[in-house]
Amino acid sequence: MKPFVVGVALLALTACATTPSRFPIRHPPIAPNAPTLARMWDAEKVSSPLSPLVDHAEVRQRVMAIRDAGGSLFLVKEEGRSVENREIWSVSFGRGPFVVLMWSQMHGDEPTATSALFDLYEYIRRHQHEPAVAHLLNQLTVHTVPMLNPDGAERFQRRNVQNIDINRDALDLATPEARLLKALRDSLNPQVGYNLHNQNWRTSVGPPMMGAAISLLSVAYDEARSMNDGRVLTKKLGAVIRDALEPYALGRIGRYDDSFEPRAFGDQLTLVGTPVLLIETGPWPDANPDPTLVKLNYVALVRSLHALADGSVHHADPARYDSLPENSGGGFHTVIRGATVTRTEGETPQVIDVGLVGVRRVRLENGKRTAVLNLTVAGAGDLTASATSFDINAAGQVLARRTQGAAVGAVVSVAAVDLVITTGATVPADLMLLTPQSDGRYRVERIVTSEVVLGVK
Ligand SMILES: [Zn+2]
Repeated sequence: MKPFVVGVALLALTACATTPSRFPIRHPPIAPNAPTLARMWDAEKVSSPLSPLVDHAEVRQRVMAIRDAGGSLFLVKEEGRSVENREIWSVSFGRGPFVVLMWSQMHGDEPTATSALFDLYEYIRRHQHEPAVAHLLNQLTVHTVPMLNPDGAERFQRRNVQNIDINRDALDLATPEARLLKALRDSLNPQVGYNLHNQNWRTSVGPPMMGAAISLLSVAYDEARSMNDGRVLTKKLGAVIRDALEPYALGRIGRYDDSFEPRAFGDQLTLVGTPVLLIETGPWPDANPDPTLVKLNYVALVRSLHALADGSVHHADPARYDSLPENSGGGFHTVIRGATVTRTEGETPQVIDVGLVGVRRVRLENGKRTAVLNLTVAGAGDLTASATSFDINAAGQVLARRTQGAAVGAVVSVAAVDLVITTGATVPADLMLLTPQSDGRYRVERIVTSEVVLGVK
């Protein structure tokens, strides 16, 4: 045995002589996997449960708390001001050579990732001394902009207060918010960018068609959608995120069409050397989808940052991104199945499905923010192939317009005109489901209202 041991020792000495570190770490510390991160988020999250209620004042309070906590972990910087003179901050962490830039809420009504960034900061703060996070902080420098469009966020509108879509302003630079983002990119020269959005809540993916909870895009930099090292990297990041999220969102992860859009920031940044991964958050079948969607964003961000830090991203298979199904539109919030529906007055009623589209809005009244879900009657017919978050089984029931004062359990008379259901993107879904009675009247089984209050701040 002895000569063998000596031989190994000699070999080890020889190896040490050629490596820069006396105790070389061959494998970086193991980072938490997705299930661990999901549990950590459950236990440690600091974000509010309803992200549409997050306003600029809340971002200020959170960002200032990070700054005022002192220490060298985070750098908080005011990068500039919006048209209405609201501060736009960056929060940065890490001191590594690989530079990442993330920005959220360049569309004011797309708040989910902003909350996930608050939870990401908390993850870094809590776990900074654990080996995997310490390694991340040594390998990466991560710059984040939690709210790029504060004027739009204040009104919960997509565009900035000049009514310009900042994500179509990468060439004109007509908005201060776009100029700020471009200046940040040019000064930091990040090796990768994360562009964080919410997608239209009709976005679906399949088959079978389901609401697309997360859509990913390795952004193109030319019409030919050519590949380069940067796009390989963003596809690999997409693969890492798919693998992390699939157990929680099976069949709900889609891929965006990668047509080149030169006015968009992702495309311009990819063109000038910062490959961009777009993460779009969509519907989730829950009355308040936010907590789950924030969690998915958190797991995606933390997992992929660790993969960049420990190099495991290089082993990811870009085909796992390429094989994601391409997303499409046409999904519903709710489908009323198999109701008896009159489409035009005098016509024989038909047994069909009626699809309701949901849009979240924020109303500003008396200094309060009220988040609401608005439902409209967007489609009718055989909707069995469409994505929906909720189903109402209306077999044997008649669909009618809601009449004033109708209550569940009441027996009412319904005018012929109120039995006619018109559809269209702007038709409010104020409806009732009725069971016909022997005397020609109806018993009210269920009432659907076009506006549901989600929360007030
Ligand atoms: Zn967007």
